[in-house]
Amino acid sequence: MSLHMMGRVALCWACLLVSGWSAEEPVDWSLITRIRQEEFMHSKVMETLSQLCDAIGPRLTGSPQLKKANEWTKDQLQSWGMSNAHLESWGPFGRGWSLQHFSIHMLSPDAAPLIAFPKAWTEGTHGAISAEATKINVQAETDFDKYRGKLNGLIVLNGDAREVKGHDQAELRRYSEQQLGELSLYAIPPRRRPEERDEYVKRERFQKAFRKFLVDEKALALVEPSPGDGGTIFVAKGGSYKPEELAGVPSLVMAVEHYNRIVRLLDHKMKVQLEIDVRCSFHDADLMAYNTLAEIPGTDKKDEVVMLGAHMDSWHSGTGATDNAAGTAVTMEAMRILRALDVKPRRTIRIALWTGEEQGLKGSRAYVSQHFASRPELTDPEEKEMPLSLQKEPGPLTLKPQHAELSAYFNVDNGTGKIRGVYLQDNAAVHQIFEAWLKPFADLGASTLTMRNTGGTDHLSFDAVGLPGFQFIQDEVEYGSRTHHSNMDVYDRLQSDDLMKASVIVASFVYHTATRDALIPRKPIPQEALP
Ligand SMILES: [Zn+2]
Repeated sequence: MSLHMMGRVALCWACLLVSGWSAEEPVDWSLITRIRQEEFMHSKVMETLSQLCDAIGPRLTGSPQLKKANEWTKDQLQSWGMSNAHLESWGPFGRGWSLQHFSIHMLSPDAAPLIAFPKAWTEGTHGAISAEATKINVQAETDFDKYRGKLNGLIVLNGDAREVKGHDQAELRRYSEQQLGELSLYAIPPRRRPEERDEYVKRERFQKAFRKFLVDEKALALVEPSPGDGGTIFVAKGGSYKPEELAGVPSLVMAVEHYNRIVRLLDHKMKVQLEIDVRCSFHDADLMAYNTLAEIPGTDKKDEVVMLGAHMDSWHSGTGATDNAAGTAVTMEAMRILRALDVKPRRTIRIALWTGEEQGLKGSRAYVSQHFASRPELTDPEEKEMPLSLQKEPGPLTLKPQHAELSAYFNVDNGTGKIRGVYLQDNAAVHQIFEAWLKPFADLGASTLTMRNTGGTDHLSFDAVGLPGFQFIQDEVEYGSRTHHSNMDVYDRLQSDDLMKASVIVASFVYHTATRDALIPRKPIPQEALP
């Protein structure tokens, strides 16, 4: 090659680099062998899950169990050799709630135990109560008048019987090649309908008004049918974690088959006597909540940080196994693998186990605003509780120095299903990087990249301030049909092979992010930034 030619080649490379192209992203294949061996031969991911789900149990934000999980995860990460394991408080979140004892029976016309579960943050019965059931149909405040003066001393069932169909398909859902192909094609995100916000506000206001109505009318308890069937019930909150708000009457969600039985009896004008005993506690001593953090220190670029994380808070009727002890255990396992292999990452690797995710990504949002970038505090209490996607223009962004030092955040929170790829979150510049990093995992079923966004979990807190935050594509398995926020979100519904494979992929992504020369490319910082 002549000197003249070399000059031209160099010039062309310069052009390519300037225009955003670069040579193929390096992959450390020998380390990947070691990561795979460590995990597939010495995995601790299911042991972590048994501790979180079986020993600690459900982890509602504010509850003593979640605080226990904070302490246990911190100690566990420390015992695996992580540095700087600690808790960081955020809040005030509000009051905690925990359930000590619950039973519900039909006493007549036949004796039968029933499948149900109390909603979080609702009142206990202060001793077993036995009363007659009555059915109402209240869907809006305009329905209140029909029932005024008629609910005193009764157990109120709200809603008609719902038809239950047989199941003719297997529940366990995995992406087919065709579905993955479709997912890899971009779909322009649907624009938010302007009425969505109003509908949300209206729903919330109705729920509050309904709680007050039942208290004013001296109803003894509220029972609602659960979505789903087959003995699985889906249960979230009924009352409020804000100490100043009304907890409402004891409120239960019942398995649809049992609910339907009572409604059919009432529709036949038969008297139904129920007995309910809910013993629960509100915890007001500490209104703060806590995230667990720990690190593997970096070397020559130790001030720069790569984060991975998952929310470890859950709903309360199961043990929060797939939502989200799974992601918690996978991210902890990725840290354990890297520590066990004694890797020396260039950047610091930091794990964050969030809380308050189920109440609106609260723990991760607080962390991001404490460490990376903040917007003015919202003052309207109704606005504060709104999902991120519905909140009004949030005001100017103020960047903190660490904003420039975070390379990327990787989140795991889509259940137990194995990782099939990554949502690029509209960030085209990471495509070629992640493509190279996924290549070693085609045999684990992970090879799909999509420019699409995915929402609903903690990577959004980073994305909202212009930091690269990603969530993996995961097989659904039984998330929608069986486990998500249900009484069957328990250890036995976890897929151990999927979780081991996920741990390997997360460990490798985090390591490669921590060792590449440059930070992960970013999207433009959202409007109104004040650097
Ligand atoms: Zn959830």
